[in-house]
Amino acid sequence: MGCCKVIILESIDELKPINHNAMQKMLNYRKLFSLIFAVPLLIGLTLVVSSFQAGAQEIELLLKGGRLIDPKNKIDAKMDLAIAAGKVVRVAADIPASQAKKVVDVSGLIVSPGLINMHTHVYAGSNVGFTDGTSSQLPDAFAPRAGITTVIDAGTTGWRTFPDFKSKIIDKSVTRVLAFLSIAAGGYSVDKAQENIEEMNVQKTVETVKNNPDILVGVRIGRYDGKEWTPFERASEAAKILNKPLFVECHLPEYSLEDQLKHMRAGDIITHAFENVSERMTVVDEQGKVRPFVLAAQKRGVLFDVGHGGGGFWFNQAVPAFKQGLWPNSFGTDEHRTSMNSGMKTMLNVMSKYLNMGMSIPDIIDRGSWKAAQSIKREDLGNLSVGSVADIAVLSIVKGKFGFVDSGNNKIDGDRKFEAELTVRGGRIIWDLNGLSANSYMK
Ligand SMILES: [Zn+2]
Repeated sequence: MGCCKVIILESIDELKPINHNAMQKMLNYRKLFSLIFAVPLLIGLTLVVSSFQAGAQEIELLLKGGRLIDPKNKIDAKMDLAIAAGKVVRVAADIPASQAKKVVDVSGLIVSPGLINMHTHVYAGSNVGFTDGTSSQLPDAFAPRAGITTVIDAGTTGWRTFPDFKSKIIDKSVTRVLAFLSIAAGGYSVDKAQENIEEMNVQKTVETVKNNPDILVGVRIGRYDGKEWTPFERASEAAKILNKPLFVECHLPEYSLEDQLKHMRAGDIITHAFENVSERMTVVDEQGKVRPFVLAAQKRGVLFDVGHGGGGFWFNQAVPAFKQGLWPNSFGTDEHRTSMNSGMKTMLNVMSKYLNMGMSIPDIIDRGSWKAAQSIKREDLGNLSVGSVADIAVLSIVKGKFGFVDSGNNKIDGDRKFEAELTVRGGRIIWDLNGLSANSYMK
């Protein structure tokens, strides 16, 4: 408040005449000045002071002293970040602690946009399998503790099952849940019904996505055992009509990798990029070289998601691919009951694999947040711009002796890994590993 009063006084002082010329000239000058400048200036100053006062009073949470990495805005520096009313209101080198209701010291930690997990299955329920099932996971059970503020469901539902998914899971989760809609009416189930082409309805898929523009980010094709390209083409057509990405999951054993990539447009996403399983050709050939048509697809804009899962990430693919320039665009985990309890573990563990393979911290944060947001055309997410929603991950890098395991039970050793210290969703702290924001018990 004190500083604001000073501003007002200084401003009024500036308006006082200091030139003692002829009275008439002065009167004319003052009249003119008042009319043209003074009134609008005072109004402007009042607005500036009011907004400054409001900003100062309304900082609800100040993250102070962290290494702020915001790839969208090309920031990698020690910066404070202020939050009010669920949004980022200020990012600056030094925001006084006195202006905030709550200050959390995050020095020595990384302040990142909230992480976006590109590939999850979160239509959790009590049935067998993924659809309203026990293989899917509740978003709030795994996301906040991994610094994730947004998960994207990989087509666990289609136009018929999406409403139930929305009411049971999406609307009730603290974690933001977005989704690709499967071209199969029932989504990703374990039975053959999902392969019924008659129910792969472009119009109904398009309508469902259009009716849920804040949630549905694209169309997914996955699991089809037949040879016909109709399912793929219908999914692709729906995505094209919507101007949204097509998300291609594997489990398409009769389609060659080359043909899949040929059918994909720039901006479409292929997941399980580094898998080594019988149902799909690998991206790296027997001589350890990334296949030229794979590199060509990436060059023309096809996006590669890790999609780790239980069988989708092998070091004998990922390491040579990384060395030869085939970097993932996003770190989707293919989160489900099996993957989270095997080599995948968490999205932070997947990011840590890349950290120990040689990817830089800013490049990892970029793929975990901003690049992921861009690939689903949600550029309101994955960044720390002033005015954006305050979805934030505060991460530490823990040093030690660690082992990282792939889907084939092969291991690399590492000495660093990411940990989520604090997760903020819409301005609210939803995860605090070491009680950074808690009150001290000892008085
Ligand atoms: Zn999946």
